[in-house]
Amino acid sequence: MLAGATLLTTAACGSGSAETAAGGKPEVVAAFYPLQWLTEQVGGSDAHVTGLTAPGVEPHDLELSIQQVSELRKAALTVYIKGVQPAVDDAVEAETSFDAATAVTTLPAGGHEQEGEADHGHEVSYDPHIWLDPTRLATVATKLGERLAVADPAHAQAYKDRAAKTAGALGTLDQEFAKGLSTCRTKSLVTAHEAFGYLADRYKLKQIGITLDPETEPSPARISEVAKLARAEGVTTIFTESLVSPKVAEVLANEVGAKTAVLDPLESPPSGDYLSAMRDNLKTLQTALGCTA
Ligand SMILES: [Zn+2]
Repeated sequence: MLAGATLLTTAACGSGSAETAAGGKPEVVAAFYPLQWLTEQVGGSDAHVTGLTAPGVEPHDLELSIQQVSELRKAALTVYIKGVQPAVDDAVEAETSFDAATAVTTLPAGGHEQEGEADHGHEVSYDPHIWLDPTRLATVATKLGERLAVADPAHAQAYKDRAAKTAGALGTLDQEFAKGLSTCRTKSLVTAHEAFGYLADRYKLKQIGITLDPETEPSPARISEVAKLARAEGVTTIFTESLVSPKVAEVLANEVGAKTAVLDPLESPPSGDYLSAMRDNLKTLQTALGCTA
């Protein structure tokens, strides 16, 4: 058992037990990047936020060390999304956790059958990638402010104020997306990893995903099915992402005569932050979809 624990990933942000006493601030654990960013915005200087998923780790594959599980169990609050990381889903306890998916209206999981899906074993019936819609993330910010206010009543107002400010920044981002994607040559978004359902839902795009699980190799039949759709929709760009091999997207792009471009699902820390990476995504989309606004 111990040997298994040692090969597991290191914690993000140098989380160590020595920091537990830091100023008596509540320990808040965030499961992966967008939630960590959000929790840092809302927690501000009143909370000590650590991330569970180290940069560069595909969060869907996260395994937790025994130490991480124990830190998570001691934390005042763990912020996660059920269905993204089975290891976290198993480790959290109801009273000290906040499942961000419960704060928003979820969309059903992708419509096509996935190979290898059985390996995940913790399938949820909804698509868990809620953070790619800024308005849903704003709702999560507000709820998170309320949860932190309960966990640390002495700073309740400060949490709520920061939550409102964060929700406001996300609202501005939403307006930029709505305007930037209002007039486009095509509204079809072909992605290697089907992570953009909420973004597509919000901005009236049509996501054609090759696979839900970025680790799963799609079948040749699925690739030709997507190629057919992409040609019919006049798609010129196939989107890939930095943590996943671009091979599948390249094979498809070749077949369709399209280019590939990186669209960041923000499952791992970007070079800037959530807001700047989403603005980069917007520019990428505007170019690829031929938007004029
Ligand atoms: Zn994902």
